[in-house]
Amino acid sequence: MPVLCSSCAEKRAVLKRPKTAHSLCKDCFFWAFEEEVHQTIVSARLFNHGETVGIGASGGKDSTVLAHVMKLLNERYDYGLKLLLLSVDEGITGYRDDSLETVKRNQQQYELPLKIVSYEELYGWTMDAIVKQVGLKNNCTFCGVFRRQALDRGAMMLKVDKICTGHNADDVAETVLMNVLRGDIARLRRCTAISTASEGEGVVPRCKPLKYAYEKEIVLYAYFKKLDYFSTECIYSPNAYRGHARTFLKDLEAVRPSAIMDVIHSGENLSVREGVKMPVQGTCGRCGYISSQTLCKSCVLLEGLNRGLPRLGIGKHHRLHGKILLQQPLTQAEERKLKAQDL
Ligand code: SF4
Ligand code: ZN
Repeated sequence: MPVLCSSCAEKRAVLKRPKTAHSLCKDCFFWAFEEEVHQTIVSARLFNHGETVGIGASGGKDSTVLAHVMKLLNERYDYGLKLLLLSVDEGITGYRDDSLETVKRNQQQYELPLKIVSYEELYGWTMDAIVKQVGLKNNCTFCGVFRRQALDRGAMMLKVDKICTGHNADDVAETVLMNVLRGDIARLRRCTAISTASEGEGVVPRCKPLKYAYEKEIVLYAYFKKLDYFSTECIYSPNAYRGHARTFLKDLEAVRPSAIMDVIHSGENLSVREGVKMPVQGTCGRCGYISSQTLCKSCVLLEGLNRGLPRLGIGKHHRLHGKILLQQPLTQAEERKLKAQDL
């Protein structure tokens, strides 16, 4: 006998919600999913009427669902937001070029303006070229640091008030676990924040409207809504460490679905003991971007690439920042340590 939707009790249930285990029909699932995102937005006061909001769009499932739901809620609840899509082209042949085609189609489907900023135009390097120089071990460090700054720069060009990204509950829980495993207290404190505005971090405030949305539900939503998204993994392989955290979390979720929420709540409720030393935010001596060191991570990584010393930005070489800032040459011994061989 067909199972009836536990919400409307009229239509046939087509899925069991991964988050609550309720059997729902398609329409009741859509409504529940969208309402939860709306509640997240309202209760955390993520946006103000009249703001321009850039949606970080990669063409993947999370940002495609985010763009779809943001547009829908903006109309349904009259948020009064001006929405646009903001994409970063990392310069990865066979991956990003294809996913950007999806973003361009989304732009047509959602009738939102689109801005693409590329690593090549901002830094003079594509990820393809970076991987050639640094290999496949630390490439995601370069990519992550550059992407963060690229999104900010794109947002500033477009004069957006806020950026929202498609980070979902699984991403946040993974990050909590990773920061616990690394003992990174500063990041652990920040990583569960739904909006960076409260943390005074970043140039353009960022927020995560899908922070409490399970990845499995995002996939179901995109599937039943027949959204147009790109699902191939990056050819330069996902970050290995995050991969372990992800597998661990998926194992926990299989036994107890609330594990994802529980990890997030644990992260949210951790408090840092008084007296624990935290990095002090200043600005980069070269580009003016926020930084807790003399130079921002992006400038150091770039300097390393341009000098053919890619290890400069990997690991701790803060004492060399002064020399770099003053364009002074490094000693031979310093250079030797920073060459690519054992990257
Ligand atoms: Fe960049 Fe690494 Fe992500 Fe590929 S997997 S897009 S290289 S951060
Ligand atoms: Zn800088």
